Amino acid sequence: MGSEDLLWEFTRESRVAYFSMEIALRPDIPTYSGGLGVLAGDTVSSAADLDIPLVAVSLVSRSGYFRQSLTRDGEQRESPDPWDPAAHAQPLGARVGVILEDRLVWVTGWLYTQKGLRGAGVPVILLDTHLPENAPDDRTLTDFLYGGDQVYRLKQEMVLGVGGVRLLAALDFQIRHYHMNEGHAALLALELLRRTARPGREIHPGESSYDLPRVREMCIFTTHTPVEAALDRFDYALFRRIAGMPVDEAMLRQLAGENEVNLTRLGLNVAEYVNGVAERHAQTTRRMFPGFTVAAIANGVHPRTWTCSAFARLYDEHLPGWQCQPERLAHAEYRIPADAVRRAHADAKAELLAEIAGQGPRFDPSRLTIGFARRMTGYKRPDLLFFDLDRLREIARRHPLQLVFAGKAHPRDAPGRSLIQALHRSLAAVGPDIAAVYLPNYDLRLAKILVAGVDLWLNTPQPPLEASGTSGMKAAFNGVPSLSVLDGWWLEGHVEGVTGWAIGDGVQHDPQIDAVSLYEKLERAVLPRFHAEPHEWTSVMLATISRNASLFHSDRMMHRYAVDAYLH
Ligand SMILES: *Cc1c(COP(=O)(O)O)cnc(C)c1O
Repeated sequence: MGSEDLLWEFTRESRVAYFSMEIALRPDIPTYSGGLGVLAGDTVSSAADLDIPLVAVSLVSRSGYFRQSLTRDGEQRESPDPWDPAAHAQPLGARVGVILEDRLVWVTGWLYTQKGLRGAGVPVILLDTHLPENAPDDRTLTDFLYGGDQVYRLKQEMVLGVGGVRLLAALDFQIRHYHMNEGHAALLALELLRRTARPGREIHPGESSYDLPRVREMCIFTTHTPVEAALDRFDYALFRRIAGMPVDEAMLRQLAGENEVNLTRLGLNVAEYVNGVAERHAQTTRRMFPGFTVAAIANGVHPRTWTCSAFARLYDEHLPGWQCQPERLAHAEYRIPADAVRRAHADAKAELLAEIAGQGPRFDPSRLTIGFARRMTGYKRPDLLFFDLDRLREIARRHPLQLVFAGKAHPRDAPGRSLIQALHRSLAAVGPDIAAVYLPNYDLRLAKILVAGVDLWLNTPQPPLEASGTSGMKAAFNGVPSLSVLDGWWLEGHVEGVTGWAIGDGVQHDPQIDAVSLYEKLERAVLPRFHAEPHEWTSVMLATISRNASLFHSDRMMHRYAVDAYLH
């Protein structure tokens, strides 16, 4: 079908517009940087499976986020990761204008369709300013995800929020709710407010020319981080110069903050329904922003996307229908034979070890293999495992283990980049007792191999800064238990010794206290069970599937969004 026919299909019923700066649609479309984009992609995939009428809006990010290569001592090198939108999506004829820095910037889009299990599709509009009628600088506004400086970021967020709302209208989409996935998308509310303004209307004292209650009814806001430094903020002078003033400034100051435009604050003020992505994260958000009602909807991951082929075959055989009803995975413990689980995991592990061998090191399939991979940044504390190298070596001499790490640092996160170098030094220092590798260019493809192929998934964030964390959920779909700090989703998924193990008590501590707890768990609980009680280990794998995969899937998450947010 051409884009005209598809659009006609998609605009026949009213939809929820899901706005996200990044979105992971498939491994060869690099329009994501990490967890937030993966969540957006899984949201769209589940909406397609469940036939929830959604339309997603994101940026085309023609040059991707970046491709990571690493020097021998762990210095991160970045190069563009270009893709060809025409190979996967259809060009849209419509164009809308957004004024940026006093210039008219034209915005068009590409239509990508995410197919669901039952044949339904969810349209995804990828916004693009690469048009001949735009000034050369403006053509590159949708090239680099999270690239450039504050000005580039604000322009991208204007294209996303204001351009996105206008393009949906130009394409005739009927939108019943706007769901802002993180503060990056919150500027869409300014366009909605502007549309409700009645300049000629007589204003009584205390009244506004904008219909804020109407906008609030339409908006849903999901916040994703309790890290202050990660919140998008712009000073008013910069905002005025770049964005003009889409609504009057007094109104904006009331909604986004008196001293700076804080997009999280804006999201909180313009949305009737606000949620964090785990119970603990909602509590933390309420503490950061007193006075707001913040619900909690725990994240989930898309079952089909994150289950390796060996486990998918196992579920097809023993739990048929699991793809449509992942709750069926709750029966894994009673229905899947232990030796079949061991065989499936051996397949996944062999695939990972082959990937690692491609980088040089030979890993031993009989050793406990620990995986750690995510965005490399300070609060995630990827170096916690190496707090005491002697202690770690001593543990490994008694119970053989090996380590695989991966992850990108944002190019301007200098401490994150240094962490990658520090990890390289630590990984070299623990040899030869411990085989260790850092795999470059962590992305969807590598993530799928890693979360399925390791024996244990490690997570060591500084509580309470991990909003949710999702890679441990991906591991659970492949029977891989977590050893994790009690934060984010793990507070809800953890049953000690049953679905994995906890590090610390979930309270903010000195790293030393958490490191000691990590070593004790490894030495006393995890490693002895893995090496001396293989049957017990398989029970943990099965319990992980039954109790974690059955709950932390994106269908459950989308049911919650549908009932609590979209149907109101
Ligand atoms: C899932 C995923 C992440 C997010 O991992 P967290 O555990 O939530 O930090 C980041 N990058 C990639 C490529 C992923 O697949």
